[in-house]
Amino acid sequence: MPPAERREPAWWFAFQRNKLLVRMESSRVSLPWLVNFEEVGLIPICQHYLGSLDGRHCFAVELAEEVETPPGMTLEGLRQVHGRLDEDLFWTAARAVQIVEWDRTHQFCGRCGVRMNARPTERAKECPRCGLLHFPRLAPAIIVLIERGKQLLLARSKRFATGMYSVLAGFVEPGESLEEAVEREIREEVGLNVRDIRYFGSQPWPFPHSLMIGFTAAYAGGEISVDASEIEHAEWFTVDNLPPLPGKISIARKLIDAFIAKHRHEEEFSRHRG
Ligand SMILES: [Zn+2]
Repeated sequence: MPPAERREPAWWFAFQRNKLLVRMESSRVSLPWLVNFEEVGLIPICQHYLGSLDGRHCFAVELAEEVETPPGMTLEGLRQVHGRLDEDLFWTAARAVQIVEWDRTHQFCGRCGVRMNARPTERAKECPRCGLLHFPRLAPAIIVLIERGKQLLLARSKRFATGMYSVLAGFVEPGESLEEAVEREIREEVGLNVRDIRYFGSQPWPFPHSLMIGFTAAYAGGEISVDASEIEHAEWFTVDNLPPLPGKISIARKLIDAFIAKHRHEEEFSRHRG
């Protein structure tokens, strides 16, 4: 629930589609910090209260497609502002863009077609005619690093930047457990079997509304055979021989960095033992 009365400034996460309104300050970007969003000189289509961050209220705002950015401000994709915006504000922006996108794309009931109402007490929309409820949409996806001794499997999708390799990922299907999704994706994309599937960590991925659930798995058999519709090339690599990797923002990179740290440590340990 938004505060009933507010005199102090708040953070404003304003999006035009998936681009965030920011002020560029050399290598840093900053967000509007104002009592009312209209002070930037724009009228939003709607605003959503997000909660508070370190005692400061945060709002998400949707901008019309045709608005012009105020002087000194630009609209930037979230990937472009990562590392240039405070980390907590960045992940709040990742939450904000998903709420704005959900609101924009769930204006009408999917069953009977009438305009949905916002529920006052929770983040949900309700159809006034048939009662259908919509909650913000999340698409769970698994992401998995496959180990074989000192090697890890990395693959190239056709969608990747030139030369870049990453770990395998894919959406969870209805009726599937996360572990089953891991086994199926690996079988489909590279034709391998795995064992010892272990949870690694998770990360929201607002492009546009995924939740990435990370795992490690051990190679258990099979020869690499790529599904050419999804994967261009897949190969075993060692930590001394890695291709260009995804950026630090991604859980893919955290999985790979954890593998590198573990194997560097093992190498040093065996060197010390002589
Ligand atoms: Zn309805």
